[in-house]
Amino acid sequence: MLPSPDNYMFRMIYSELLDAVGPEGIRVDDSEKLGHSIDYYWMPEMWHDRNQPPRTPDVVVLPDNTQAVAKVMKIANSYKIPVTPWGGGSGSQGGALPVYGGIILDTKRMNRILEIDTESLTITCETGANTQQLEWAVEKAGYSTMHFPASIACATLGGFLAHRGTGVLSTKYGKIEDMVMSLEVVTPEGEIINTLPVPRHASGPDLTQLFVGSEGTLGVMTKVTLKIHPIPEAREFHAFLFKDMHSAMAAGRNIMASRLRPAVIRLYDGPETAKLIKKVLGIERQGAYLVFGFDGDKEMVDLEMARACAICRQENPEDLGTEMGKAWWDHRYKFFYPPYMFQLPQAFGTLDTVATFANIEKVYWAMKQTVETNFPQATYIGHFSHWYEWGCMLYARFIIDQPPADPGEAANLYNRIWDPPPSPTAASSTSTTASASSSVVSCPSSMAPPSTSSSASSEPSIPTAS
Ligand SMILES: Cc1cc2nc3c(=O)[nH]c(=O)nc-3n(C[C@H](O)[C@H](O)[C@H](O)COP(=O)(O)OP(=O)(O)OC[C@H]3O[C@@H](n4cnc5c(N)ncnc54)[C@H](O)[C@@H]3O)c2cc1C
Repeated sequence: MLPSPDNYMFRMIYSELLDAVGPEGIRVDDSEKLGHSIDYYWMPEMWHDRNQPPRTPDVVVLPDNTQAVAKVMKIANSYKIPVTPWGGGSGSQGGALPVYGGIILDTKRMNRILEIDTESLTITCETGANTQQLEWAVEKAGYSTMHFPASIACATLGGFLAHRGTGVLSTKYGKIEDMVMSLEVVTPEGEIINTLPVPRHASGPDLTQLFVGSEGTLGVMTKVTLKIHPIPEAREFHAFLFKDMHSAMAAGRNIMASRLRPAVIRLYDGPETAKLIKKVLGIERQGAYLVFGFDGDKEMVDLEMARACAICRQENPEDLGTEMGKAWWDHRYKFFYPPYMFQLPQAFGTLDTVATFANIEKVYWAMKQTVETNFPQATYIGHFSHWYEWGCMLYARFIIDQPPADPGEAANLYNRIWDPPPSPTAASSTSTTASASSSVVSCPSSMAPPSTSSSASSEPSIPTAS
C-alpha cells in the first residue's frame, strides 16, 4: 500500500511512476480506482451492489511498452509496493483485484500485433490485446487463433495466459497453454526475460509453462508468440439427447477413446439441459444434451462425424440432428450473458475441475452431494466442456437464489461453500480438492451415481429470457 496522497512520500513515488509511464499512463481518480476494484468474481459484485466500501488500488498505471513495465516493477520493488496485473478484469475468481492496495498495472494499452509468421503459422503480439480484436486481425490474414472463449469480447491474452484459459474449440486446438510458443516476461525485480522461442526442447525445465497459470504472481507477461491455424474448409456439429448423463458420458468417452479428433464436445447435466438448453436453444426435454463438432477438410469431417454419430447411437439417444448442433454453435456465448446467466441478487460460484474418465462422474456426484447436503439453499449444476483422451473438465457451479441480505453474512456463506465440511458419505473415502481453477481430483471408487431421476431433481432458477 502507498502512503496517503497528502504524504510527501506519495508525491515522490507518484512522480517516479509518472516518469516511467508518462501522463497518459497514470490515474488516481476515484472512478478509475473504483473500476479496478471489481471483476467478474461474485464477492466484489455483491459488495458493490450492496453499497459496501470496496478495496481499491492507490494508483492505476497503464504502461504502453515493456520498458515502462520494467520501470514500474523496479519502482514498486524498491518501495515494496504490491503490484497486481490487470487485463480485461473479466476473471471469475478475483485474481486481478487489488486486495493489498498498491498499484494496478493495467495492460490494455499494450495491444499491438507485432508479427504474423505465415511460414511457421505463429503470431507475436503484446499481451494486453483483446482476444476478439486479435482473432479478427488473424482472420484478416486468412488464419484463426482457434481461441473462442465466451469472454472473447472482454478478456485479454495476458489474462488467458495467467489463468490457463479455455476456448470452445479446446478439445482439438488446445487450451491457451497448448497454443503458446514463447513469452516475454517482466519479473518482480523489473528484469525483462524471454523464454525459449519454441515450446518443445531438451533444455531443462519449461520456463514458459512456469509463467502460464501463475495468475500474475511470478511476473507480468508482456509479449507472447502463439500458434495460428488455417481456416478449415468445413466445420459441422451434431447434437443428441441422452436419457441421462451417464450414457452421454459413455458416448463422449468412447468418441475420445476411438481417437477421433472432435474440435468440441460439450455435455450438459440434467438441470442445465432442462433449464439452459431449453432457454437458449428452445429444446424442452429431460435428459442430457450432448453436442460435438469436427472441422477440417470436408471429406475428413464427414467421415469423423459419421463415426462419432455411430458411437453415440450405441447408447440409444434421441437424435437432434445437425440443426440443433449448429444452433448451439451459433448461440455458444449466449449461455454466459444476461438474460441467460445468473444475476444478482443470486449468488453463484464456478468450479473448474478436471478428472480422468474413471473418476469424473464420481467427482460430479460427490461435489453435488457435498454442496447440496451442507448447504440446502444451494443448487449444484454443471457441464463437461473440455475433453482429453483420458478424461474431461467439469465446469460446475453452485447457485443460491436468495443469499442473506446482510453483506457480511452473504460473504461468509459464499466463502464456506468453497471449503465445506466433508459430508458423511464423502468423508470416509474422498480426497477431493476442488478449487477455483483447474485441479485434479480423486474420488472414492465406491461412490456410484444416483439414479437418473435425481440428475434433474433440483433446478436453480435461471433467469427467463425476456
Ligand atoms: C461472460 C464471461 C465468460 C467467460 N468465459 C470464459 C471461457 O470461455 N473460458 C475461460 O477460460 N474463461 C472464461 N471467463 C473468465 C475470464 O474471461 C478469463 O479468466 C480471462 O482469461 C480473464 O482475462 P482478463 O484479461 O479479463 O484477465 P483479468 O481478469 O484482468 O486477470 C485475470 C488474472 O490474470 C492476471 N493477469 C492479467 N494480465 C496479466 C499479464 N499480462 N501478466 C501476468 N498476469 C496477468 C491478473 O492479475 C489476474 O490474476 C469468462 C468470463 C466472463 C465474464
